[in-house]
Amino acid sequence: MLPALRRFFLIVTACFVAHLFAIPAFTQAPAKLLATTTGVFRTSNEAVADPSLEELNSLGAQGQTIQQARAEVLLILGGENACSAWYRGAEPDVAEKFRSLRFAVDSGGASEILKLASWNDDPYYYQPYVARTGQNVGRGSTIALNANGAFFKSVAAVRVVNKLKDPGFINSNRPLVVGRYSGATLQARILTMLHEYGHVLDMLPVDAGVPSGPLISTRNTDTVLRHCMPQIQAQVKHSRKKTSEIFPAQASLTLRATLNHQGAFRQQRNQFFVSRGESDLPPRFD
Ligand SMILES: [Zn+2]
Repeated sequence: MLPALRRFFLIVTACFVAHLFAIPAFTQAPAKLLATTTGVFRTSNEAVADPSLEELNSLGAQGQTIQQARAEVLLILGGENACSAWYRGAEPDVAEKFRSLRFAVDSGGASEILKLASWNDDPYYYQPYVARTGQNVGRGSTIALNANGAFFKSVAAVRVVNKLKDPGFINSNRPLVVGRYSGATLQARILTMLHEYGHVLDMLPVDAGVPSGPLISTRNTDTVLRHCMPQIQAQVKHSRKKTSEIFPAQASLTLRATLNHQGAFRQQRNQFFVSRGESDLPPRFD
């Protein structure tokens, strides 16, 4: 490992790690770096000034996607609930610090699920990473989002390899997930941001560049879900209700599409994990 790369692993945590090859430092490859800093978070009824809003919107669909999830996370962290209380244990100004964070989109991030087929009866699957950030870092730090990971995508091609750095071959497509949520859903995006924020505040152990990183990442996601799942569910429900009030016809179509997608996803996921044994389980990414 190159010294520069080793240094990167020491200071950066890549979450929901999946690919087995060297992880490119997002500081070298962000396609778009978004400033989302300097806003002062207010909890009063007045409109909250947000200088980053226009900037995020100027990035088109990806910027709007980030902005939507970020807004929902801010509502969770700005409210009085079990999730915000958990984060407040590490950072009193929990919403304001989250609001100061920057976002980068890694457009060249890994895009394939790797299936390590050396042990064919119980193969290992590695998702492309979803997001990464620094461990125990200050205001204005960056969360990098993989443009090809489960924050933005719901499905990825599976490349079957026999060993590390084997070129392998593509043989199927599989769903991407974040915790219990399918990729590219609002729930998955909120959970991703909350997970990364846990690293920013040093509340979760480093899960990249360390042995058993994928397993630790899965446990970290479970920890966030344990504290925040009710708020994630409630926030998404509220968001859907709001949308349906403003755009009733569109909301109906979206709901139908979501239900169809969830049905297909459940079916695929059941097939996906059917070969996992009960002991010595491979690292899951759900
Ligand atoms: Zn992590």
